[in-house]
Amino acid sequence: NAGTGKFIVGGNWKCNGTAASVKDLVKALNAGKIDADVDVYVAPPFVFIPRVQAELNSEKYAIAAQNCWVSEGGAFTGEVSAEMLVDANIPWVILGHSERRALCGETSEFVGEKVKYALSKGLKVALCIGETLDQRESGKTMDVCYAQLKAVNDVITAADWDNVVIAYEPVWAIGTGKVATPDQAQDVHAGIRKWCASNISPEVASKIRIQYGGSVNASNCDELATKEDIDGFLVGGASLIGDAFVTICNSA
Ligand code: PGA
Repeated sequence: NAGTGKFIVGGNWKCNGTAASVKDLVKALNAGKIDADVDVYVAPPFVFIPRVQAELNSEKYAIAAQNCWVSEGGAFTGEVSAEMLVDANIPWVILGHSERRALCGETSEFVGEKVKYALSKGLKVALCIGETLDQRESGKTMDVCYAQLKAVNDVITAADWDNVVIAYEPVWAIGTGKVATPDQAQDVHAGIRKWCASNISPEVASKIRIQYGGSVNASNCDELATKEDIDGFLVGGASLIGDAFVTICNSA
């Protein structure tokens, strides 16, 4: 793979689960053998994080939050601050997920500010970007990805990118069963890396890890993982199935 870092797989549990299902999932993950040289994070809903931290094997799996607030905590009902994540020993946060952009009105500028604030507190960020079907069909895929990256790059430093993983997640592939073909994903990943070389630095471009997300499962991960610029996956639906997620982690 092109990114000089380790392959990296994230499990985004989204707004799913019960105390009982989380217990079962943690059990299955703990039983799984992660034999690849891979970094793995899982992102449970906030209420389950303490339980997962207590029970999940931390040598195999790091914990991520699915979101955090854009500034210091305070009078922000319903939000969780970056400081709280740090205080709770949660090293990772997913920011800019398309569901939050589309359903919660998060603009690229807002996502940029969130990434900046999270990094300033010492969190590692999985930054999600990606185009909708309309945007793809009108030939705007790369422009959309570049604009989403630019909004972040405008407010962080080149050194900050050391703590960012980019997750390319075409919106039309998320939760739809319509995975991007390995060539479609590779093309966009290569474009993203080139953009990073021109707009951040060649060093960052060669190091940065670019995850693919969107209907990744235990059957399609191996072929996607062979692509030069695919450095890992961000997995939604299949991350709720212990043995499927372990298989994906081992596709490195
Ligand atoms: P999916 O979700 O794997 O269910 O398509 C991916 C994501 O939204 O991160």
